[in-house]
Amino acid sequence: MPKKAKKSTSQDVKDTTVIPLKSYSMKEHGVTQSLLISYLTCRMQAALSLCGWKSEGEDVGVTKFGTVMHWFLSQYYSTGLQIPTYEQYLEHIGRDEHTITTAEADIAFLVSAQFPAYAAYYRTMDRRLNIVEAESSFEVPYMATPQHEVCLRGKRDGLYRDGKGRLWLMEHKSVSNLDEGRKSMQLNFCFQTLFYILATEFDLGEEVAGVLYNIVRRPGNRRGKGTTEAFRKRVVETIKGHEPEYYFARFEVVYTPKQKREFNRRLGRLVMEFKLWLEGLRANGLKATIQNDLACDARWICEYLPMCGECSTEGYKRTNNPFPELDN
Ligand code: SF4
Repeated sequence: MPKKAKKSTSQDVKDTTVIPLKSYSMKEHGVTQSLLISYLTCRMQAALSLCGWKSEGEDVGVTKFGTVMHWFLSQYYSTGLQIPTYEQYLEHIGRDEHTITTAEADIAFLVSAQFPAYAAYYRTMDRRLNIVEAESSFEVPYMATPQHEVCLRGKRDGLYRDGKGRLWLMEHKSVSNLDEGRKSMQLNFCFQTLFYILATEFDLGEEVAGVLYNIVRRPGNRRGKGTTEAFRKRVVETIKGHEPEYYFARFEVVYTPKQKREFNRRLGRLVMEFKLWLEGLRANGLKATIQNDLACDARWICEYLPMCGECSTEGYKRTNNPFPELDN
């Protein structure tokens, strides 16, 4: 039988002396776009993240769907458009039918049932893409000022060349609603995309023409009380019952050299401001940092809301790795 995820007990949330904050170095461990966005969103969120706190709750929503879908997409584009299977995913996460949780099995099945429709819809377009890489990590030296070198780190979803040989970034996004997904990407992903474009240009020494946003909508099916077989049948029927445009959307955004230069200046200033804040955090601890209550439940519910609201670390664990997402 699939098993349920466990939760941890309470620890001292105020302890900022532990690794990774103690040993964290912007040059050695790097800065990611998600850390800088956390810093811009809420200093407390960035501080808790740098102190190594991570939620242990089992994510069964659109975020988990996105993680599984990212794995399917990276396999698909790195194997010459071979469609991955549910069984291959289980092997990848080191689980089988007896050890995977019910919630995770359901999401893996949703993705594996939907993926053939994705592949069929984009087959002609994707055969024209000259894939350079799929889901790869980067670590790029970056001079925030002539005296201050840091490392930009992250994971690109994909890179490809178009028919004219120009390099493009590919960014996958999973959503529960395509219209909201499009809007969110247009409004909010400029920072993330420009961060990746700049890092890629420094990394490869070549201009990146722009980004292809690749949006996939999560099928709305839930298992309910029925059997696995009944659930699987329902998912397949639901996907067949809609036009592909209900689930899939793509659009391209081109960035001019001027936009990239302006972003480079903005990033340099942000990195230096972050550095000053980090020195204050090390010297004075969490009590000296500012929390932004307006960000607790804005577009997304903050991962640390139970911790901040109840001053309890129950359900959280502490890691020594400031960027575990780069290891997946
Ligand atoms: S719950 Fe709110 S105050 Fe606490 S870290 Fe998150 S955004 Fe900041």
